[in-house]
Amino acid sequence: MTENPPAPVPRSNVLAIPAYVPGKPPVARPGVTAYKLSSNENPFPPLPGVLAAATEAAGQMNRYPDMGASALYEALSARLDVPVDHLATATGSVGLLYQLVAAFCEPGDEVVHAWRSFEAYPIAVTAGGAVGVPVPLTVDARHDLDAMAAAIGERTRVVVVCTPNNPTGPAVAQAELDAFLARVPSHVLVVVDEAYVEFVRSPDPVDGVATALAHPNVVVTRTFSKAYGLAGFRVGYAVAQPPLAAALRAVSLPFGVSTVAQAAAVASLAATDALLERVDTVVARRDRVLAGLRERGWDVPDAQGNFVWLPITDPEHLGAFVASAEEAALVVRPFVGDGVRISIGEEEACDRLLALPGPTGAPIGD
Ligand SMILES: *Cc1c(COP(=O)(O)O)cnc(C)c1O
Repeated sequence: MTENPPAPVPRSNVLAIPAYVPGKPPVARPGVTAYKLSSNENPFPPLPGVLAAATEAAGQMNRYPDMGASALYEALSARLDVPVDHLATATGSVGLLYQLVAAFCEPGDEVVHAWRSFEAYPIAVTAGGAVGVPVPLTVDARHDLDAMAAAIGERTRVVVVCTPNNPTGPAVAQAELDAFLARVPSHVLVVVDEAYVEFVRSPDPVDGVATALAHPNVVVTRTFSKAYGLAGFRVGYAVAQPPLAAALRAVSLPFGVSTVAQAAAVASLAATDALLERVDTVVARRDRVLAGLRERGWDVPDAQGNFVWLPITDPEHLGAFVASAEEAALVVRPFVGDGVRISIGEEEACDRLLALPGPTGAPIGD
């Protein structure tokens, strides 16, 4: 009997990478429009001028993208009023997460983050060979910044603050963030993930860019995927002081952001008025949904992103809720043991959501 020759073995952390569970696609049903409310996507068509810019850029597909993404850097620099050397673009802000771990963590270094929070954190951290230190949210589904500061140890290199928090919704206040930053050692990098910054309407909102400019250990990450509606094109950016931004650019995937994505992002930045109008529409729908769900008896935490969170910890109740949503042709995003996240989509999707049964055991609205 011959033995098999040894096969290539991935690094020991690779098997430990949790699987990313993508939002399910809607199931088509005759006569009923199905709505995908499972990935926090933007329900609107491209902003004015964006499709034309992307289509024109697609004609350049035989060429590599502008590796320096110079038009995008210039447009971001003008929009944010920060010098280009304070910026790093990437293939979505998920790309930035991978780059942050690659640039700042040795194998076994720790990354402190809230939990439950963005699903990509444990994936990016583990894939990069670092170790995640999840810190439970407070009972009202907020970051427990005191506990996060206390979780910083010898091996902590990075702390991630997700505001508003995906999937639960509440945002951190600037005063809270400032108090937290005062407790974080200067060699520990604080990443402020502002994927939903455009939707925030809370008092004392975080100003991530000003915070990054004021602190040599803060990076703010943002994305074109949510408010700008470019999730399919994969563009995100970071703002930080030049040494941090340079480290992020150094480990980026060469030519990662495609020509089409760069052109679409630049055109989107030029469509400010239309963007603000859409964001306001989503915010108005969100606030209507939040109020309606609370009226029904749901215990919904503050919602500052383009989604709401129903804390349903009992897996059976969660399954029943997801089934009732499916019955209404709404695809939602369950997180077993914690609850369900529902994106704010089309007006009709909001109406249907509000017509679903209330919490199990509570009377169904009148
Ligand atoms: C959606 C989301 C992102 C954005 O990811 P992209 O890679 O830019 O599409 C980043 N952080 C959080 C918390 C998110 O929910």
